[in-house]
Amino acid sequence: MQSIDAPAMRRLNKVSVLRCIRSHGPISRIEIAHRTGLNKATVSSLVDELMAEALVEEVGVGQSRGGRKPVLVAFRAAAGYGIGIDVQITHLTATLCDLAGHVVSERTHPLRGRPLDGPGLVDAISDAVSGMQAEAPPSPRGVLGVGVGLPGMVDVRSGWVYQLPNVPVRDWPLGPVLSSRIGLPVWVDNDANCGAGAEIRLRGQVRHLVYIHAGVGVGAGIVIDGALYRGRRGIAGEWGHVPIIERGVPCNCGGYGCWEQYASERALARYLAESGAMEEVPVEWEQMQDFVTDVVRRAEAGAPAERRALTLLGHYLGLGLAGIVNALDPDVILLGGRLRLAYRHLLPEIRAVMRHRVMGPDKLVPIELGHELAVAIGAAALATQEDVLLSGSAEAEQVPRSTEEDEDKDGGTRDATP
Ligand SMILES: [Zn+2]
Repeated sequence: MQSIDAPAMRRLNKVSVLRCIRSHGPISRIEIAHRTGLNKATVSSLVDELMAEALVEEVGVGQSRGGRKPVLVAFRAAAGYGIGIDVQITHLTATLCDLAGHVVSERTHPLRGRPLDGPGLVDAISDAVSGMQAEAPPSPRGVLGVGVGLPGMVDVRSGWVYQLPNVPVRDWPLGPVLSSRIGLPVWVDNDANCGAGAEIRLRGQVRHLVYIHAGVGVGAGIVIDGALYRGRRGIAGEWGHVPIIERGVPCNCGGYGCWEQYASERALARYLAESGAMEEVPVEWEQMQDFVTDVVRRAEAGAPAERRALTLLGHYLGLGLAGIVNALDPDVILLGGRLRLAYRHLLPEIRAVMRHRVMGPDKLVPIELGHELAVAIGAAALATQEDVLLSGSAEAEQVPRSTEEDEDKDGGTRDATP
């Protein structure tokens, strides 16, 4: 067992005090000591430091348990901000969130007309970040950094993009390039992981959760026992590329019959093309921002092809989700991405399939709507984690370090490896 030096121990204690105040504040110093297991003198001195760093403040007095009424301290959510960027194939969504994850501002930018390669993505994200920076209210810590959720396989530790299957970006150091462009620290993660991180925070008590990000492609963010599961190489959750039909439709990943070819916007377009309701499956997805909304509107007006297409989509979504439930037994599955816009139309068929295909007595695992901005909120949370807040000035680190020493990282960067 490696020994831990005093400054490192103090830093860990400080993270745990900050996390306690963030989760349970307003809270007294005594109660912090009780919850963290630290002695009161240590807590008091760490709270003083956190107050000097503008991260916590005294907000009044609490109930007395005999003796003096205790002074309560609370987290200063408006002490700084994080910017979250959700990059999709058709558009990107930018949010400005305070340190508690509340959305202060959000904007969607179509990617139409922009080159969707590495430099094009950096340009688009930089523009969105400038817009959000201009909207940040004055605060002691300012904008701390930018988190980017991407639709594909990335290395969270270096900001390296391995592959975005539906965007021609591969083996590209997006994090470092973006960081040097905008002059802020940048964190990069998979979009579904960001969504799962945001949902686990929003839902508090849930321990096992799967966030499905279903748009042009499909990915999953998996939370097991409260921790994001990343797998050996950090790319777990590519559930869209689980084969469900052996000689099925060719996929951008190079395989055939992947789930996302049957349970995505692309699949919805193919079902419509097969029934003649659409001329062909579009390749230019950046032109199709309102595709799902349009299909839902026509289905609600009674169009048979659109209704059939949504039923088929629900069927294949249900098949894949039944597999996820059988494999992971989660408390809840959340549907995010643009298919969430068709949730009401997809759910009956999803449920019908799951009733047949889910094993065990409880076949009705809740399938709920994910938060509309989950990916962007989860991305912003990467820039406002406790260890970032305590790392001092924003220019301290351009790229996140290894996260191995942090046993609990909110916002979707927690490693599940023991
Ligand atoms: Zn595939």
